[in-house]
Amino acid sequence: MHKLYKSKCSELNVHPVSFEKYRRVFRSYNLGFHKPKKDQCKKCLKYTNMTEDEKKTHEQAHHEHMLRKKLAREARDEDKEIAKNNSAVLSFNFDLEAVLTTPKGPTGQIFYLRKLAIYNLTIYNLGNQDGICYLWDETQGKRGSNEISSCIYNYIINQPNITEVRMMSDGCGGQQKNSHFAAMCLKLLTDHTKLRTIDHRFFESGHTEMECDSLHSKIEQKSKYVPGYSPEGWAQIIRSARTHPRPFEVRYMMFDDIFDFKSFGTRNYKLNQIPWQQVCWLQYVKTDDVVTMSYKKNFGDEFQRVNSIKSRGRPKKDDLKKAYDEQLPIAIAKYKDLQKMCNDLTIPKNYHNFYNSIKADKIIRDNLPETNESEDSDER
Ligand SMILES: [Zn+2]
Repeated sequence: MHKLYKSKCSELNVHPVSFEKYRRVFRSYNLGFHKPKKDQCKKCLKYTNMTEDEKKTHEQAHHEHMLRKKLAREARDEDKEIAKNNSAVLSFNFDLEAVLTTPKGPTGQIFYLRKLAIYNLTIYNLGNQDGICYLWDETQGKRGSNEISSCIYNYIINQPNITEVRMMSDGCGGQQKNSHFAAMCLKLLTDHTKLRTIDHRFFESGHTEMECDSLHSKIEQKSKYVPGYSPEGWAQIIRSARTHPRPFEVRYMMFDDIFDFKSFGTRNYKLNQIPWQQVCWLQYVKTDDVVTMSYKKNFGDEFQRVNSIKSRGRPKKDDLKKAYDEQLPIAIAKYKDLQKMCNDLTIPKNYHNFYNSIKADKIIRDNLPETNESEDSDER
């Protein structure tokens, strides 16, 4: 993109800005590059292109990679069978959708202006095929581990009759493969009266095969020709993206629904002893009010017990605090673009109250976190 821009600049005889500057401005527009779904796994591609000698050296690692891919898929199928036949077992997979934006519509100028980001964490229940979408916009929260943990906590704690959770996700280190999310799981076992075990398994990097990803394709398809001017507009699109066996359910997350599992985890647990990058299976068990945690690096290994997970001192009852005291401000440049679209009625008048209620702050840099790239960076 920067190369094209530079050649255009020389055509017009203007001085181009640096790559860094270009990158910063480009990212503030919330534009993303579409990554084809059937993208080949980087590791597999690299292995395919090796010489015969190189292949010999890397054979074992590649074999283990393919085995983890196979066993993760089998684990998912097994979880599905168990959950279908036992209502006390909750089995699901979850994933954050690529960033959605509002407004969205056919007008050309919407494309070029900064838009409000909307995040959707989708949960697919393997037992009953429920699709639950937790939805929030960037004035209510970010797209980090506190947000993801809070959604999953909310989902599980509101099912009081389950005794066992089996969940799967990709291995995104910034979102759910980390000590904050693990602290949430430990807290769940403490707070939930019937829950005894949580198994959290990760798909092998490059070979994520989750039902919630096909839910995202359905939402993308549905949204193609439908305009949306608010988070509620997106909620309507999501609800209507599936009819069989029933529509997706949308649950809004507001800033005061998001808990600070990050600092809660740091204060109460010692989880830095876990080799996060290499873990493919985390297991949490409660026996007689004592919660233990174990992990595996390969599905066929024995579980490694995590020793003395609790920090010294008893955790206080109200130790889990909210992550935010108020709505989050957005970057001034984005605020101005949104106001511009209100003023020229690109955004219809009945939505202006929503956009006028947004606060802007000049210290907010409008940089999107890396989108969905973290899975690939999770190299073993
Ligand atoms: Zn691969």
